[in-house]
Amino acid sequence: MLIREILAAKENRSVVTVRPNSTLRETAGVLRRENIGAVLVIDAHGKLLGVASERDLVRAIWKLGGDLFERPVSDVMTCSVVTCTPSDDVLATLSEMNGQAIRHIPVVEAGEIQAMISIREFEHACRQLEAQAHTDELTGLANRRLFMSVLTKEVNRFRRFQTPFSVAMLDIDRFKIVNDQYGHEAGDSVLRALADLMVSKLRPYDEVGRLGGEEFAILFPNTELEDALKTCQRLLQAIRKEEVANEEASIRFTVSFGLVFSNDPTLDASTVLKQADQLLYKAKADGRDRIVISEAAHGAPAAEELESASA
Ligand code: GH3
Ligand code: MG
Ligand code: MG
Repeated sequence: MLIREILAAKENRSVVTVRPNSTLRETAGVLRRENIGAVLVIDAHGKLLGVASERDLVRAIWKLGGDLFERPVSDVMTCSVVTCTPSDDVLATLSEMNGQAIRHIPVVEAGEIQAMISIREFEHACRQLEAQAHTDELTGLANRRLFMSVLTKEVNRFRRFQTPFSVAMLDIDRFKIVNDQYGHEAGDSVLRALADLMVSKLRPYDEVGRLGGEEFAILFPNTELEDALKTCQRLLQAIRKEEVANEEASIRFTVSFGLVFSNDPTLDASTVLKQADQLLYKAKADGRDRIVISEAAHGAPAAEELESASA
């Protein structure tokens, strides 16, 4: 991640400056008016001479006498200014700022001051970029990476405390036909509609992820197979009723599910997902638009028969 990315997301890029002969009264007035923590001190040619921060002003109050407010800012500014360029790495820059206890850093490119970035903006940008890195852009769901990390935590919890969990893997049936018939945009609308439907039908603590393409997964934490199955059945019914409006048509679609239950503490997250994928494959082979659960799950109803009977 580069400084450039923070600049692109920065709403206000105007750089607030004062001249070295500005008084401390004027400088303090600028900080207050602009509601900022530091101001750049530049000469008549725009050359960066220093930074005057709130901290510099507080130091001045301690150091200087009664004529404090009429003293020039150049008396108190920090002259050895640490700067960065748009192509610097954000984390490296942030760590340098932390190391030197700096709260504001000017971005300079080819001798020109581009912007001033505060440590708060750095932290905000890092949080946003981190969220983006875990979110699927089209649907807003967790992406594969985040889903796998949540699943890994749940698998570990199961190993330590035997709290049960269930995982469903879903794939839209004959989705290629939707794209071929109505176009890729319409296909995207179907993906978004399915994502919204899942979020609305699931509990806030169930994790939904888009693993890729038209493939999704649901983690039901602390949930027995029977309850997860009921939820998947409700979802399957709701998907069958869903209509995605398009200029030409109202698109209907179905989904196949593979549903697994935590029953083996030796398994890791990717093996659990692999099992769900195998069941999903069976759901496809058996005719699609259905849920297949693992045979190892004793006493659970035969989901396939149940679902295909009502199709
Ligand atoms: P099956 O029932 O066996 O799953 O058949 P299918 O047609 O759904 O499966 P296949 O894997 O043959 O095709 C998946 C299609 O999903 C092909 C690909 O173009 C489409 N697809 C994948 N990602 C996206 C996407 O982000 N947007 C759109 N519109 N289509 C996508
Ligand atoms: Mg498919
Ligand atoms: Mg697929």
